[in-house]
Amino acid sequence: MAATREELKALVNQEIDRRSESLIQTALHIMKNPESGFKETKTSYTVQGWFKDLGIAYTDNLAITGLKGVVNGKAGDGPTIAVIGELDSMVVPGHPEEDPVTHAAHACGHHIQIGNMLAVAAGLLAPGVLEELSGRVVFMAVPAEEYIELEFRNELRKQGKLEFLTGKGEFIRLGAFDDVDLAVMTHSGSLDSDPGEVARDLVIGAGSNGLVAKRAEFIGHASHAGGSPWRGVNALNAATLAIQAIHMQRETFKDEDSIRVHPIITKGGSAVNAVPDAVHIETYVRGRSLDAILEANSKVDRSLRAGAMAVGARVRIINLGEMLPLINSPEMASIYRANAETLVGADNVGERGHGGGSTDMGDVSHLMPALHPHVNAATGQGHGVDYLVQDYQLAVVTAAKAMANMVVDLLSDGAKSAKEIVGNHTPLLTKAQYIELTQGLYGEELFPK
Ligand SMILES: [Zn+2]
Ligand SMILES: [Zn+2]
Repeated sequence: MAATREELKALVNQEIDRRSESLIQTALHIMKNPESGFKETKTSYTVQGWFKDLGIAYTDNLAITGLKGVVNGKAGDGPTIAVIGELDSMVVPGHPEEDPVTHAAHACGHHIQIGNMLAVAAGLLAPGVLEELSGRVVFMAVPAEEYIELEFRNELRKQGKLEFLTGKGEFIRLGAFDDVDLAVMTHSGSLDSDPGEVARDLVIGAGSNGLVAKRAEFIGHASHAGGSPWRGVNALNAATLAIQAIHMQRETFKDEDSIRVHPIITKGGSAVNAVPDAVHIETYVRGRSLDAILEANSKVDRSLRAGAMAVGARVRIINLGEMLPLINSPEMASIYRANAETLVGADNVGERGHGGGSTDMGDVSHLMPALHPHVNAATGQGHGVDYLVQDYQLAVVTAAKAMANMVVDLLSDGAKSAKEIVGNHTPLLTKAQYIELTQGLYGEELFPK
């Protein structure tokens, strides 16, 4: 006699509860051993330990540190759902949990995502559950969501170890998503909400900005800063002027495009008594649609050239790829919401508007139905020194139940719901179109030539 969905969810939730202590300890262990993108060897090893313990067959070394484990439903064929966790940390000097050598720190809460993904896996492997599910669930531990350390990643690219600089972009390019039909993950969020907002436990967003990432290297000419500055060409002045020119574009950005441009100087000069001959900038150009991003990007390029031209320097503009705007599947969002409300009550499930940040989950959401809810269990500012997860029970255990229970809804009854969602969905891009688009957003220009 077949189990009902509610009976299956009870089995899943009991199993997650039974393992909750070790799942939370795993999240804490990852927090204490933070590693930034494409360097997550210890974190990857921790996930492999769990895959082995749970008996999950997996592929490793995907995009350097990534993993993909596969679990088959035993009730027949059906769509494949990817449940994703991100391996990487931020780099935040001064964070209380930073690695003292690398300054890596989990200031975006990705350590709870891995605990959370493993909890979903453990729950779905509870005795009696897979017998009632059709299709497959794959568990992906994906590197390098934070789009940082661009110089290091570009070096990996030049060495042929990568082509795209985000983990999910590489997973797509390498074919890891070729056999996947739907993709989900839970991201950490903060309880420190903006004035007028109430922080809820589990939150479904409207979507978020995409971006193009870039570097600019200003090339001047060094001379004695005191004795003969007129013989130099000051690359720092060129860069400063370029940043001012970028700021002067801001009145042309439309509110509805949610453009964000936020350059940093990663190299500002070498010695105070020499006119700087090499100054490097990194920036993103973010926006709500690819067209808006590309239009703003052309204004940024113009500004970079203007700074160089004014002082007689040169600039090398290096485009380093993208993250596409995130689109959440409304059908999956409503199934998720129902499960979340059962677990934490309707008052503790929220929705939020368009987000100004970016994620490479946006890339995945252009290829298939995707869902990227947040669990608000941290305090402090995302990417800041004060960002700390406080409620691990909510982040690792409760949020995983909501996700695992949604998977039960999608894949039970012959995977009827998942088949409907996939059948009614028209992807915005094919994999080939995605690769062509992304490759077009890498490249270099030297100005003047
Ligand atoms: Zn982040
Ligand atoms: Zn993040």
